Amino acid sequence: MSKYTFPIGGIHPNDAKFSKGCAIEVLPIPPVVYVSMAQHLGAPAVPCVAAGDKVKVGTVIGEPAGFISAYIHSPVSGTVKSVGPRKDLAGNNVTHVEITVEGDEWEDGIDLTPDIVKEIPSDRAAVLDKIKKCGVVGLGGATFPAHVKLNPSPDTKADCILINGAECEPYLTSDHRIMIERPEEIVIGAAIMQMVLGGCRCVIAIEDNKPEAIASMKGAVAKLGYRNMEVLTLKKKYPQGGEKQLIDAVLRRQVGSGALPISVGAVVQNVATALAVYEAVQKNRPLITNTMTITGDKLPVSEQHNYLFRIGVPFSFIAEQAGGVPEYAAKIVSGGPMMGKAIANMDATTVKGTSSLLYLSKESTKRKEEGLCIRCARCAESCPMGLEPFLINRVYKAGDLAGMEKASAQDCIECGCCQYSCPANIPLVDNIRMAKGQVMAEIKKRRSNGK
Ligand code: SF4
Ligand code: SF4
Repeated sequence: MSKYTFPIGGIHPNDAKFSKGCAIEVLPIPPVVYVSMAQHLGAPAVPCVAAGDKVKVGTVIGEPAGFISAYIHSPVSGTVKSVGPRKDLAGNNVTHVEITVEGDEWEDGIDLTPDIVKEIPSDRAAVLDKIKKCGVVGLGGATFPAHVKLNPSPDTKADCILINGAECEPYLTSDHRIMIERPEEIVIGAAIMQMVLGGCRCVIAIEDNKPEAIASMKGAVAKLGYRNMEVLTLKKKYPQGGEKQLIDAVLRRQVGSGALPISVGAVVQNVATALAVYEAVQKNRPLITNTMTITGDKLPVSEQHNYLFRIGVPFSFIAEQAGGVPEYAAKIVSGGPMMGKAIANMDATTVKGTSSLLYLSKESTKRKEEGLCIRCARCAESCPMGLEPFLINRVYKAGDLAGMEKASAQDCIECGCCQYSCPANIPLVDNIRMAKGQVMAEIKKRRSNGK
């Protein structure tokens, strides 16, 4: 058993990787797609097409609106029907480009052959520009623009890039499948990012509940023979895929409060991001597809899937293709059960970072009656950030903003370990998330006042 894991807190939920044996299938293209302009961290993109415009697959339809923003490309060919507000999965109004699909014509210059391009380019600036122009963002959850993360400020230096293949959230298997089915492309994408960061060490970190993925990635690393690159097996523990936890697990370095991984010489990118970097740099292919898992606690395995989907496809279309929303589903989630978002609106569309459509039954989502805190400290023992959730909860309920900041509510990564461990069924994450929001707003206000 591997000894590598993060030392503080964490939990061991049933990993429920029921769909791990489901090979990736290509999802059909619907008659209409709706492409969100807010599918990355930072400023939403600005639409650069109008109703009536003809687009091909890969045409730029949204341009970055600031330093931290990203290009958006059309995932289909056809005619722009409208540009305007539409509800996202949480019910918020977001600008979308609606496109009526006509055929499947791609922009010139995109390499659609299955040939694997192994030679790593050496022009760092050109590679960064290609990653930016292809709209690549982190696909491990945060959707941070990749070209920004791969270009740290000159006063910092990366000595290690971690390729995150932990996929520690229960149920999700899309990263697992791409590591089995597309290992060479992921390894080449990792080597490209390694080059961009100056040839630092590269560690591809995978949890020990994915032996096929570990074997597949080790085989690709050995075959391609890039220098200074290795696959490391991690002991399974949630939330190992969190950046700070992964850095601690592999490098035994701790990223301070409010600091970025580069402050300890590390850059973390997900395996799906490595694949997107490969496609951008080696195939000139913008980020218009990703892989997602269709799964659930009571869904027969025969009805589970891993789909290669085009961004902008509505969840309702995906559900229909997969056999319809199962009757037992009491809650539908996009992402994992610990950190995913409940889907309030099935007509909302997939975005670059979409990782799943998860159907949870009443039994697994029903909230038990909240009791009184018995001061057992299990929440603190399970917190991977070393926080005292019971204390943050208490000061939040008292409306004590200074107390919330002193208790470091701003450092919460919203992993849910505390709530999972609490015998009194206290909705700790909900309350701590609110506390974090209040503290972050206060910190922002102080910064803008120059304090
Ligand atoms: S949700 Fe926040 S407070 Fe709770 S265990 Fe995770 S990091 Fe700690
Ligand atoms: S786990 Fe729940 S009951 Fe125990 S100390 Fe934390 S909040 Fe209180």
